[in-house]
Amino acid sequence: MSDATAVPSGEAGTLHPPAISLREAWPWTLFGGALLLLTYLVGFGEGAALHEWVHDGRHLLGFPCH
Ligand SMILES: [Zn+2]
Repeated sequence: MSDATAVPSGEAGTLHPPAISLREAWPWTLFGGALLLLTYLVGFGEGAALHEWVHDGRHLLGFPCH
């Protein structure tokens, strides 16, 4: 008696990756992107990148600053 094989009987011949719909995946894509951005800002940017990002956002919204 072995429980090592997790393939259900009847689906043994159809080995394919589980279908992930875009509707289910996009929050994780967003989460992953935000996590990467946060990692970059905290780990490599050291605040300067965050400042530049906010600054760029200010320009994008049409605020004159310099
Ligand atoms: Zn500016």
